[in-house]
Amino acid sequence: QAGSSLTDLTTTATPTDQGYYKIKGQKLFISAGDHDGADNIIHLALVRIKDAPPGIKGISLFIIPKKRIKADGSLEFNDVNCTGIYHKLGYRGAPITQLAFGENDDCRGWLVGEANKGLAYMFQMMNGARIDVGLAAACISSAAYYASLEYARERPQGRKLTSKDPLSPQVPIIEHADVRRMLLFQKSIVEGSLALLIQCGLYEDLEHVTEGEERENYNLLLELLTPVAKSYPSEMGILSCSQGLQILGGYGFCEEFPLEQLYRDVRIHPIHEGTTGIQGMDLLGRKMMMKKGKAAQLYLAEVRKAIREAQDDMELKPFADKLQLAVGQLENVTAHLFGIAAKEGPEMFLADATLYLEFFGIIAIAWQWLRQAVCARKALQKNPGESDVNFYNGKMVACRYFFGYELPKIEGLAIRLLSGDGLTVTMKNEYFED
Ligand SMILES: Cc1cc2nc3c(=O)[nH]c(=O)nc-3n(C[C@H](O)[C@H](O)[C@H](O)COP(=O)(O)OP(=O)(O)OC[C@H]3O[C@@H](n4cnc5c(N)ncnc54)[C@H](O)[C@@H]3O)c2cc1C
Repeated sequence: QAGSSLTDLTTTATPTDQGYYKIKGQKLFISAGDHDGADNIIHLALVRIKDAPPGIKGISLFIIPKKRIKADGSLEFNDVNCTGIYHKLGYRGAPITQLAFGENDDCRGWLVGEANKGLAYMFQMMNGARIDVGLAAACISSAAYYASLEYARERPQGRKLTSKDPLSPQVPIIEHADVRRMLLFQKSIVEGSLALLIQCGLYEDLEHVTEGEERENYNLLLELLTPVAKSYPSEMGILSCSQGLQILGGYGFCEEFPLEQLYRDVRIHPIHEGTTGIQGMDLLGRKMMMKKGKAAQLYLAEVRKAIREAQDDMELKPFADKLQLAVGQLENVTAHLFGIAAKEGPEMFLADATLYLEFFGIIAIAWQWLRQAVCARKALQKNPGESDVNFYNGKMVACRYFFGYELPKIEGLAIRLLSGDGLTVTMKNEYFED
C-alpha cells in the first residue's frame, strides 16, 4: 500500500534462517516500480516484520530486488510482480505501478539497519525528497512562466485603452496591464519559490560543514522549512501554471503549446511525498513545537535579520515594515493555535493546519523577496550594464508585486485562523446529504 497513514501498512516480512525475510503484500503507486530501462530494480520498502509492535514502532525498512543474485552471480526473478499501471492526468514520463510481493511465496527481502526503525530511516530520504518535489514544481512553473512570457511578447491582440484609432496596429498582449499582472504573479511565485528552495539548500550545506549547536540549528531550520518548501511551490505552482495557460488564451488549452502539459504535470506535486494536508499538520503539529519551539524561534530570528538589513534602505523600509507586521501576526496566530491545542485538543488545533501552512508560506516567500530586493538594490547602486539594470529592476517590481498583491492575503487567513469556531470539526457528515 501507499498513502498518508503509514501506521496502517500491512506488507509483512517473515524471518528465515537464511539471512533474508520472506515478503508478502502489495505496494500501490510506485513510481518507476517496473520498467525495461535497467537490468534490475531495487525497491526500498517499508514492511512490518511478523509479530512486530503495532503502529509506527513496528515498521522496518527492507531492500527487495525485482531480481535476486544467485550464488553464481546470475540474476533470478524475486517474485515481485507488476499487477497494474496507473493512467494519469500528467507526469506521464514515469510508469506508476502497483506491485505484488510474494504472490508465489518466493519474494525475499533484506533488512536495512535495525528492525522497527524503518520510519526514521525512510524519513532521511523523505525529507530530501520533499524538497525535491518543491523544486520540481518550481521548475515546471518556471518553464510555464517563460513559455507564456514568450507568447505574450509575440501575440498581437487589442489596443491600449488610450488608443482611439481602430486602424492603428494591435499591440502585443504583454502591453495589457492584466497580462502583466498574470506574468508578475508567475514571476513572483517562481522566483520566490526558487529562493526559498535555495535557502533550504544553504541550510543543508551549512549543516554539513558546521558542528555542535550550530549544526543542530541549521538542521532545525531545514526541518521547519521542509513542509513549506514542499507545499508552497507545489500549490502555488498549480495557480501559476494556470495563469500562464490563461495568457495563451485558447491556445493555452491546446496540445500545440506546452502550457496544457505543464498544467497537468504540476498537479501531482501537492499529492505525492505527503499531501499538502499532511504537510500542514507536520508544520503546525510537529515542527513549530519541535524542541520546545526552538526551530520556530531560529526561523523568526532569520526573518528579523533580513528585516533589519532592509530597514537601513529607505526604498526597502516600507517592505521591511510590512514583513515586520506579518511576523507579528504569525506569532499571534501561532500562540492562539497553541492555546487551542492546550484547551481543546488536537482535532480543533489542527483543523485548519493547511490554512496555517498557506499563511506561513506567504510570509516565508515575502522574506525571500525582501532578501532578493536587498541584493538587487545593492547591485543597482554599482551602476551595472543595461541588461543587468533590467534584471534587477525586474526583481524590484516582482518584490513590490508580492508585497502588494500576495502578502495581503495573510489578513484573511489570519481572521480565519484566529476564529477558532471549529466549523469543520463540528460539521456532521449527514449535512452533506442533498
Ligand atoms: C503519480 C504518483 C506517484 C507516486 N509515487 C509513489 C512512490 O514512488 N512511492 C510511494 O510510496 N508512493 C507513491 N505515490 C503515492 C503517494 O505518496 C500517495 O498517493 C499520497 O501520499 C497520498 O496518499 P493516498 O493516495 O493514499 O491518499 P489518502 O492518504 O487517502 O489522502 C486522501 C486525502 O485525504 C487527506 N488525508 C489523509 N489522511 C488524513 C489525515 N489523517 N488528516 C487529514 N487529512 C488526511 C489527504 O491530505 C488527501 O487530501 C505516488 C502517487 C502518485 C499519484
